[in-house]
Amino acid sequence: MTAWDPALLATPPLTDADDRLPPAHKLYALRTLPMGEIRAVGFDMDHTLARYRSPEIDELAFKKSARLLVRDRGYSPWLLEVGYDPAFAVRGLVLDGLRGNLLKLNRERQVVRACHGSRALSRPELEGIYGRRRLSTAARGFRNIDTLFELPESHLYARMVDGLDQGLLKAENYLELFHDVRWAVDTAHRNGEMKAEILQHRDFFILREPHLALALDRLKREGKKLFLLTNSDWSFTDGVLGHLLNGQDEARPHWTDYFDLMVVSSRKPLFFTDTPDAVALGHPNAFSGGHAAWLEARLGAEGEQILYVGDHIYGDVLRSKKNASWRTLLLVPELERELKLLEAKGPDLRELFRLETARRRAQRRASVLQDQWKRNRARRHVLGARLSTEAMAALDHEASQLALSAEALRRRVDLLTLETRGLLSAVEASFNPMWGPIFRDRDEQTRFADQIQQFACAYTGRVENLYMVDPQATVYAPVPTLPHERREMVRG
Ligand code: IMP
Ligand code: MG
Repeated sequence: MTAWDPALLATPPLTDADDRLPPAHKLYALRTLPMGEIRAVGFDMDHTLARYRSPEIDELAFKKSARLLVRDRGYSPWLLEVGYDPAFAVRGLVLDGLRGNLLKLNRERQVVRACHGSRALSRPELEGIYGRRRLSTAARGFRNIDTLFELPESHLYARMVDGLDQGLLKAENYLELFHDVRWAVDTAHRNGEMKAEILQHRDFFILREPHLALALDRLKREGKKLFLLTNSDWSFTDGVLGHLLNGQDEARPHWTDYFDLMVVSSRKPLFFTDTPDAVALGHPNAFSGGHAAWLEARLGAEGEQILYVGDHIYGDVLRSKKNASWRTLLLVPELERELKLLEAKGPDLRELFRLETARRRAQRRASVLQDQWKRNRARRHVLGARLSTEAMAALDHEASQLALSAEALRRRVDLLTLETRGLLSAVEASFNPMWGPIFRDRDEQTRFADQIQQFACAYTGRVENLYMVDPQATVYAPVPTLPHERREMVRG
């Protein structure tokens, strides 16, 4: 049994971030980001420049996909009655389409939590299925829930698995449900109905934020070229960004005035690996398609001179970093809520740290006593015949004292373990009853947290936070250290 890392409670390592800013407004650097060297800043649109009202937008996708399944794939109308539960899924999970399961993985890619349909699996159940093997989520039948767009998909899939198990839905197997739900969600996005509904009710669905125009303006004033790189098509992009930016700044009356280059229907992640031609649109700086090398040539900036801001760890961040060497800023909209909870749970986290320290100390002490007892027994065995009766009695007395003390300590460890476990479960459940926090599980980091650390130069909760970042300053990352180096640094 382990508790949360005490590092969570410690003062954060020295960084250049502005410490006067509230945590929710900070940009957290993982790799030192010399903003002065950045010549072009690019933005993804959906869930980056544009924030949508959630969970309403997810429910819209959920309902539209369910309707498509009933109308075009012959599923039972039971699906239409299923309610949308916003707390059911979180980002960073993995769908196992072969088995009808949703999984939370640690950074070693081992399953640490799982549900089958919407039923949570116990530890023995999940270990029976997945063991402690490293899972390859690139294998057939798996899907990473990496964007907010994928939350309704995992929820709908789970409810379909419930339906199949209960005999309410018909399908060959879980994999067929997995393919059908993928088709339905994909169709809901592509057939234009959902986008039309969002634009029709744009005041409701698209959240306006005055600092967005200010943040973009600030970057432009400081000489950065700005570009837009989105998978959405031109008409949706025009509708969304027009709603957010038109008329916000007299000097830039139209949203297109903010950008030196606009690329829509970009097919990320393929934008970073394929080389299709860009197609010119009506506006001189607007194109559809194209690829990374073409974009760099057009902007006159390349590799690390480009900072790309997006919400998709794979399509926006991993591929742009690996294939084009761009610097990356990942948007994690969940961060604000996780920060608030961390603060609210501060006393509980401190108590967990205290319990865990006491537990480890008691356990260490118990094993030292156990070891002394073993040596005592070995001495008796080896020296046996050569010992006087008194020496033998003294040895036996010592052995029984050692055994008693070790036993008392073991009972204390058991008690502390129970106490820690109860408090830890309550703290984790406050993040999400089924999944806990998205960045960690007990004292382990999740696959999601690991991917962010591998590929993002920095992360933050909202794009508007860029307004508070000096476009010429360097944002320093904490100095990475190994455990043996930390000791030396403390000694100073
Ligand atoms: P971006 O985040 O600005 O690059 O845009 C994401 C685009 O992908 C939006 O237009 C979404 O509607 C669209 N999208 C999200 N999920 C799917 C899908 O499963 N199939 C097709 N399009 C999708
Ligand atoms: Mg996006």
